[in-house]
Amino acid sequence: MSSVKLRGVRKIFGSLEVIKGVDLDIDAKEFVVFVGPSGCGKSTLLRMIAGLEPISKGDLEIGGKRMNDVDPSQRGIAMVFQTYALYPHMTVRENMGFALRFARVPKEQIARQVDAAARILALGPLMDRYPKELSGGQRQRVAIGRAIVRNPEVFLFDEPLSNLDAELRVHMRIEIARLHKELQTTIIYVTHDQVEAMTLADKIVVLRDGLVEQVGRPLDLYDDPANQFVAGFIGSPK
Ligand code: ADP
Ligand code: MG
Repeated sequence: MSSVKLRGVRKIFGSLEVIKGVDLDIDAKEFVVFVGPSGCGKSTLLRMIAGLEPISKGDLEIGGKRMNDVDPSQRGIAMVFQTYALYPHMTVRENMGFALRFARVPKEQIARQVDAAARILALGPLMDRYPKELSGGQRQRVAIGRAIVRNPEVFLFDEPLSNLDAELRVHMRIEIARLHKELQTTIIYVTHDQVEAMTLADKIVVLRDGLVEQVGRPLDLYDDPANQFVAGFIGSPK
């Protein structure tokens, strides 16, 4: 499991600077949650860590290695998005194994890894179904399973539950916490849901307009928010 380190990270789109110099230290196995208003740069930061978006300035290290110019597939990272596009013409089992097949992993090993992920997410009875035969929550579980199968050192989640109804969100939140315990991976998780942030995070990073506003453990931020803005996001009565 890998640590993640950002130093002076910036992102400039044309003439618009959207990430304005972010320093961040994420320990191996830590569950870190990014919160902040829409447009503050949460997804852009994740995409830079994943390698889906080049870093304009600054340095990114994963597991102690500089990653700025490393191909996304070589970063030891798996990302789960808000809209989880499963392949409609493939069964759950095929969806979960696809990335490994693509990477030419031997068949028996694919089967082993897919079965292990299916066990963790209790997907057993769904393995031969097609996405259209699944509920929203089941699909999201498959999307998470597809990420687990790749055995990532670091998991990136970008608002993975925001398309689910309230009841399912609670259920999935518990499942993700269990997943973290079981897999012991580093997790960086974006949400705008205070309860998700407070209950899942070892450490919360509050972002505002492309900068880190405050970093801390959930209760420390709640008890001692740096300012009104942080208080508003964490829900503390300041
Ligand atoms: P968040 O995930 O916090 O809502 P984003 O990271 O998606 O925020 O976006 C941060 C800012 O960067 C926004 O102002 C957004 O419009 C801008 N942005 C994101 N992607 C691009 C892009 N490909 N080109 C230009 N601007 C972008
Ligand atoms: Mg976003």
